[in-house]
Amino acid sequence: FLALAAISKSFGPNQVVKDFNLSVGKGEFVSFLGPSGCGKTTVLRMVAGFETPSAGTIRIDGQDVTRLPANKRRIGMVFQAYALFPNMSVSQNVAFGLKVAGADRATISRRVGEMLELIKLDHLGERFPYQLSGGQQQRVALARALAPKPNLLLLDEPLSALDAQIRVSLRDDIRAIQRELGITTIFVTHDQEEALSISDRVVVMHQGRADQLGTPAEIYNRPATRFVANFVGKLN
Ligand code: ATP
Repeated sequence: FLALAAISKSFGPNQVVKDFNLSVGKGEFVSFLGPSGCGKTTVLRMVAGFETPSAGTIRIDGQDVTRLPANKRRIGMVFQAYALFPNMSVSQNVAFGLKVAGADRATISRRVGEMLELIKLDHLGERFPYQLSGGQQQRVALARALAPKPNLLLLDEPLSALDAQIRVSLRDDIRAIQRELGITTIFVTHDQEEALSISDRVVVMHQGRADQLGTPAEIYNRPATRFVANFVGKLN
């Protein structure tokens, strides 16, 4: 469903993504796992259309989108934190993408209701972001991303600003919602346990390259490089 073929990205003399290849099946949940600076976010931003690759091609659902601007791709994205519109209520935040897409009032209202139910916040539609916990804000960000029915969901460290207990419960809810909708998802994290517990497959990234691509069990039991072994904690 998503195919990245020999993607590279340089900023000036600095090549931060090197010959990156990946195929993601429809409905699959794939994590990019690696330390800070390994290029995870840059790959995600190229998939979203916020950056253009220096080389290589990106296909989504059979279409070459390598040079297609972000607003022409059907992508939903959730960032680390603090990405809601502070002056809009929860419902208005969730409605935002639908309004931009020109949906009528009845459609917007129905869809916002469905989304708030999906994230279990149907009682909080009139609140503003500052009146919500961090976990609730991330649920709203997820609802806002999913409301326009994207065909690809990109999650950039959506749990990393939350404390441990909320992190685990929201992680499980994200996975349940992803399965229910069957939406193809890329999840960026530097947390090994998080990636291994939530994903169908994991890409371990190291200095701009994919060191290993496999199921969590394959990565854990048969690390392909010393870096992967160290990073997933087997050789410490
Ligand atoms: P983190 O978890 O810290 O965000 P990451 O693995 O997502 O790490 P990237 O954000 O993709 O890493 O960054 C990879 C490298 O590219 C870093 O060295 C970063 O400084 C560099 N980089 C990213 N964006 C730019 C940019 N717009 N201009 C110049 N360098 C950049």
